[in-house]
Amino acid sequence: MNEFGLINKIRLKTFPHINHRLQSGIGDDCAVITDGNKYQLVTTDAVYENTHFTRRYTPPFELGAKAAAVNISDICAMGGRPLYAFVTVGFPKNENQKYVEKIYAGLFAWFNAYGVDIAGGDTIKADRLFLSVTLLGEVEKNRIMLRKTAKAGDVIFVTGKLGASHAGLKTLMGKNKKRLSKDENSAVKKHLMPVPKFIAGRLLGESGLVSACIDISDGLMSDLLHICEESKCGAKIWEAHVPIADEARYVAQKKKEKALDYALYGGEDYELLFTVSPLKAAKFYDFAAGNGLSCKAIGKLTANRGVFRVNASGEKEERFKKTWKHF
Ligand code: ADP
Ligand code: MG
Repeated sequence: MNEFGLINKIRLKTFPHINHRLQSGIGDDCAVITDGNKYQLVTTDAVYENTHFTRRYTPPFELGAKAAAVNISDICAMGGRPLYAFVTVGFPKNENQKYVEKIYAGLFAWFNAYGVDIAGGDTIKADRLFLSVTLLGEVEKNRIMLRKTAKAGDVIFVTGKLGASHAGLKTLMGKNKKRLSKDENSAVKKHLMPVPKFIAGRLLGESGLVSACIDISDGLMSDLLHICEESKCGAKIWEAHVPIADEARYVAQKKKEKALDYALYGGEDYELLFTVSPLKAAKFYDFAAGNGLSCKAIGKLTANRGVFRVNASGEKEERFKKTWKHF
């Protein structure tokens, strides 16, 4: 079974929407519901022991923090602010209560920092530990950023630097973890406790200059494909322009791997990937500089539907084999 094949089948059955206030359901970082001069945003994400995390690599506080962060990140990708969370937790009968309390400490730490109330949830018995978070938020109508509104010719940007989270995962999976270097420690921290790009998302939405936006959860190339599919276009990524995190360079070199691959396919950096019309690019550069927004142009959307990597020796079409598959 293929995750996106299944979601597409479900999605086809959701048209037309029964409730006319549902602006957009399946297919973006959040569902979008009209509410006066605002949109309500809703997103949900679940993690399951030994599928998405293992107790060996993920301490409980970090597990809670990350579950909060990935949902907050989806609201940030729409330009919104997160507000209310519902948390469902499942664990085996003999689970240690302290362990679950530590997960909640992580959830509360992140939710408090972003102004989110835990407003409810459910607790159930399960074979293995799992955590499901549903997050509600809102965004002013004129600030929303969707995946489906980009156009061929738009410039592709990314905030921050990529690949550190994957470097962290590689470090956690490595043998010698007693004496980690500064870069390795930083990579592990970025993997276990990603920071959602709230201020960047709010600024991008406020600018009114962004044509589409998504957060990088699966990996730059994979998430770019989502923008391409929703906006019915293709893309070219200029390899030399992709911002690579120092942690990715350090760990990749140590493991004799390519740091660029960490940045393109690693995922879980939770940076924002967005597009700007070439007609608005000059204005956007001024806006970004004026607001201290760190971002970089890394490519262009094209009318041709393929996604290509471009370097000095030519261009190569992406086959999408290297991305994360659940099934
Ligand atoms: P993200 O990585 O941004 O969290 P996902 O890849 O998990 O997004 O999901 C993509 C879209 O598919 C979202 O709109 C999500 O709500 C929807 N979706 C995922 N799984 C299901 C499902 N089982 N039923 C209905 N919608 C789903
Ligand atoms: Mg997302």
